[in-house]
Amino acid sequence: MSYDYDAIIIGAGTSGLAAGSALQKAGKSYVILDKKKEIGLPVRSTGAVSLEWVNRIGMPTDRSIIASEIHAMSFRTDTGRSISMSFNRAVGLVYNFTEYERYLAEKFAGRLNIKMETRVNSVKDETVFTDNEKITAKYIIMAAGPQSNMGIKLPRDRVLVAYEEIRRLPKRDDYEMILWFSDSAPGGYFWDFADGPDRRKIGVCYYPFNGRVPKDVLAEFTERFPELKGDMLETMAHQIPLTEPAEKVIDGNVMYVGDMVNAVLNTTAGGLQGAFWSGTTAGIAAAANNPLLYQQKWDGEIRPWLMKHHLLHQKLHKNGAKSIGRYMTLAKLMPTSFKKRVFGGL
Ligand SMILES: Cc1cc2nc3c(=O)[nH]c(=O)nc-3n(C[C@H](O)[C@H](O)[C@H](O)COP(=O)(O)OP(=O)(O)OC[C@H]3O[C@@H](n4cnc5c(N)ncnc54)[C@H](O)[C@@H]3O)c2cc1C
Repeated sequence: MSYDYDAIIIGAGTSGLAAGSALQKAGKSYVILDKKKEIGLPVRSTGAVSLEWVNRIGMPTDRSIIASEIHAMSFRTDTGRSISMSFNRAVGLVYNFTEYERYLAEKFAGRLNIKMETRVNSVKDETVFTDNEKITAKYIIMAAGPQSNMGIKLPRDRVLVAYEEIRRLPKRDDYEMILWFSDSAPGGYFWDFADGPDRRKIGVCYYPFNGRVPKDVLAEFTERFPELKGDMLETMAHQIPLTEPAEKVIDGNVMYVGDMVNAVLNTTAGGLQGAFWSGTTAGIAAAANNPLLYQQKWDGEIRPWLMKHHLLHQKLHKNGAKSIGRYMTLAKLMPTSFKKRVFGGL
């Protein structure tokens, strides 16, 4: 059978762009389809990532896409426990999310072949049906994110609701990254990240057991901290799948990547690295004509890394802020070098 492309990728988020980059580097024919209008918009992520993992899996570090670097971090509970660390080098960075995804689309592996404003309605074997055409490929890479019509809808209690406000605030001299764990954000946390010299990203994510609106939960929490009062410049709301990573990531000629297979580090609710790593690996497997390569790497490396975070997250949040506070006290007893290695690598 002859195909229109070697691979069709559904979704131009981090995972789809990473898959496209791998196919482009391998000289294969592919197209990335996305229903939205523009790459990197609307903003989908705070963009904070661990530099150790960025380097390990080859994510981009071009200066033009970095909003801020993280040298100092603080983890707190609203019951008064805390653990803070500063490093003599950057251990993390916060991407300017829109610029980061544009960079993946245009510069990382050269200009990728992307068709925007193209909604995929269904996939059958090697055929993808959009609103106005049907196209074929040997491999389909599903990179359509959480809660898409292309994937399984997770139950509400497996998905964190997330909401963020970029506020105009003066640069802090102490911490570029602060996380507060609180029983008003079950399963998640409140955050405060540097986003350039006079802006900070203030947000919250949690399992929506309480049925409360994230904007209200954030407002109530931040009112307690005068240093967080600043003009609101932008807002962002979305969902993060926070459950066990999938076991099976391939189904015949179809490979699933990113949020669709819960490639999220549950402790930090960070999904960019899992999206990039799974997307790249699926792209390499498609280029090698061997989807099993992706499943093998998933089983041997990607899933064990995600599972470690999943199990730690379950332990940490077992009794809400109380159990997290207990772990913070234990972490304080670790030798400084070990503590820095653990927290610096998150
Ligand atoms: C508020 C918030 C803050 C976050 N902060 C961080 C952070 O600081 N660090 C971190 O590492 N992670 C963070 N994450 C998680 C991270 O952003 C996601 O895990 C990651 O972006 C997932 O990438 P993806 O490619 O799997 O999916 P997505 O980025 O969701 O991409 C999916 C794409 O598929 C397209 N699509 C869907 N259905 C169709 C269809 N039928 N046809 C065509 N196109 C379709 C969508 O338009 C979308 O562009 C955050 C998430 C949220 C919500």
